[in-house]
Amino acid sequence: SQKAVLISGCSSGIGLAIAVLLAKDEKKRFMVYATMRNLAKQEALVEAAGRTLGQTLEIRQMDVCDEKSIKECVDSLPDRRVDILISNAGLGLVGPIECQSIEEMQSVMNTNFFGFVRLLKEVLPDMKMRKSGHIVVISSVMGIQGILFNDIYAASKFAVEGFCESMAVQAMRFKLHISLIEPGPVITDFEHKVYEEGMKSDMSKVDSVTADMFLNIYMRHWTQIFESLGQTPEVIAEHTLKIITMDNPPFRHQTNTLYTPVTTLKYADPNGDLPIDTFYKVVFEHDKVFSASLNFLKLLRWRSRKSFSSLEKDKS
Ligand code: NAD
Repeated sequence: SQKAVLISGCSSGIGLAIAVLLAKDEKKRFMVYATMRNLAKQEALVEAAGRTLGQTLEIRQMDVCDEKSIKECVDSLPDRRVDILISNAGLGLVGPIECQSIEEMQSVMNTNFFGFVRLLKEVLPDMKMRKSGHIVVISSVMGIQGILFNDIYAASKFAVEGFCESMAVQAMRFKLHISLIEPGPVITDFEHKVYEEGMKSDMSKVDSVTADMFLNIYMRHWTQIFESLGQTPEVIAEHTLKIITMDNPPFRHQTNTLYTPVTTLKYADPNGDLPIDTFYKVVFEHDKVFSASLNFLKLLRWRSRKSFSSLEKDKS
């Protein structure tokens, strides 16, 4: 039978790509409720959805920072049924914390963490009652490992991951699944918005060493990192489809095999120093090594494509 899928943040990027991929499923396994905060921004989704609109895809308004809009959206679904919740809406924030207001930081936590919690509070009781449901969160590799100048964003994704780890045991008791999808860099508007906002940061608020570290080291490498490691939203959508159609979906799933060695550093040293020392050396001491390793990663891109095609094979 068809599964009802509720997705947040579908006006662009990963949310849009997931909504469209699931709606176009040949076997029509999904009825997709693609939601967005502002319905005036539905044009790209409408166009990409094509003939699935009104068939296997419906567009609804939902602001994850507004409990009333979440409730109204869920109440509007047949029997309020959500078989698969995909919490995707999110905001990024980069830069030195001296340049960020507490309000900006709170809006990242409010969207990325509480946005998910609000959604879950609305659907969890029904999922428990039915003893079925899959809760999927678009987290990030920054949900397991912090990255320079992404302090608040990483904290928001860590919050999501800590919450889900705590919730997972309870969920198991009700036969519910929870999965954290952890992409590395993905080329979407998100990346552009965050980059532009970062470039606008007011450097007069910060000392010259930090300003130099941010503008001349971090921001200068940003584009290179996305070019060498970046995946497309469509690839993240394929990974998500794979996860939601598994009998025993994993709790964590990283989408980018090129990134795995980086996150592995965390588990290799219980003192936690290894990833921090490695990042420090890569970024500050070996600027040349950093560029060289990026070039090397470009060469390795075929590997991630290859591992993705093997993922395709298991599906068939
Ligand atoms: P995006 O900016 O295209 O998508 C984010 C969406 O969330 C937008 O459509 C935005 O309108 C929506 N949104 C923001 N606040 C909202 C609210 N209050 N209510 C409803 N919707 C709201 O960027 P994306 O890359 O597609 O991001 C999607 C998710 O993927 C985010 O959670 C992000 O943290 C995560 N992610 C992105 C990357 C990346 O590099 N782009 C990497 C890892 C994880």
